[in-house]
Amino acid sequence: MLRPKPGAVRAAPYDERDRASHRPSASLREDTLTDLHAFVAGLPKAELHVHHIGSASPRIVAELAARHPDSKVPTDPEALADYFTFTDFGHFIEVYLSVVDLVRTADDVRLLTFEVARDMARQNIRYAELTVTPYSSVRRGIDESAFMSAIEDARKAAEAELGVVLRWCFDIPGEAGLEAAEVTARLAVTEGLRPEGLVSFGLGGPEIGVERPQFKPYFDRAIAAGLHSVPHAGETTGPQTIWDALTSLRAERVGHGTSATQDPELLAYLAEHRIALEVCPTSNLATRAVADLERHPIREMVAAGVLVTVNSDDPPMFGTDLNNEYLVAARLLGLDERGVAELAKNAVGASFLDDAGKARIAAEIDAYTDSSLGAAAAARLAP
Ligand SMILES: [Zn+2]
Repeated sequence: MLRPKPGAVRAAPYDERDRASHRPSASLREDTLTDLHAFVAGLPKAELHVHHIGSASPRIVAELAARHPDSKVPTDPEALADYFTFTDFGHFIEVYLSVVDLVRTADDVRLLTFEVARDMARQNIRYAELTVTPYSSVRRGIDESAFMSAIEDARKAAEAELGVVLRWCFDIPGEAGLEAAEVTARLAVTEGLRPEGLVSFGLGGPEIGVERPQFKPYFDRAIAAGLHSVPHAGETTGPQTIWDALTSLRAERVGHGTSATQDPELLAYLAEHRIALEVCPTSNLATRAVADLERHPIREMVAAGVLVTVNSDDPPMFGTDLNNEYLVAARLLGLDERGVAELAKNAVGASFLDDAGKARIAAEIDAYTDSSLGAAAAARLAP
């Protein structure tokens, strides 16, 4: 997560004017339209860059607030919708911290995690690498093993009951410095604590004044323990931060990487080494990492042959979800249904799922695409 700069407000979701531009010929009957919205909504997807607390939707926050009546967070859904509309930077921080304050016990962690998976299932997300910041919870007094059991219980229940496969990325909140790095690395590598679903190690928070190389020893420990390296880099700082993430932290994917397009050599390096970027368009707009979506560098990334994945970051906080991010990307890249399906396969390919799991979701994407487009073609041929 990156906190927005002053003046940032909730990003406008993909609107009806955009929707109209994707509609096929008006001569088709309404019930046979291959609407890109409907296609994206039903498309099996994987998400690689999404934060745990940052995924708490108003529905989940209402449930947590009802558990802790001393909190000032409203429990009424309508009041909550207003509460989640940020007026400025200070308001965003206030809301984010008030949600952090609602996650007080291991059972709150379990509820949050399972309910986030429920929101994912509703979008047909089949697999997600959820970025969890255990340091924040442990610092707030939640027992370390109880925290791990809570996320693992929720992970197993989400897979069994919702068909959503979750894996964890434990990230260092960069602003909390080396103490947070030490705690996060210890939790990630210690036998008996490290959760079965942990696949990667990350670094989030602000980039300005938080140099990547200082975290090298902690990434070295995590990598030695078999974890993948996925730091945020180049979201609000220049391409040097991305180079640092690659050379010091041995990044296998890069969170955001927005400024990569300022350095052709870096783009070529990312493309050649198949290092995927986790692009989160609406988040970049909400935090003012990009001035407007039309100028988002996703086009240059794709044109340079970089493996681009599309993600939602802190979706309810930015007024978006993964489906909306796919529609934004489709518009910016001029993608049709098959192009969108390829984008979904990029995320599967760049994930840390095992080969069998990747093949299963990719086959599901292909089957869905063929059957959706086949049905649409048949409808066009019908008298
Ligand atoms: Zn993030």
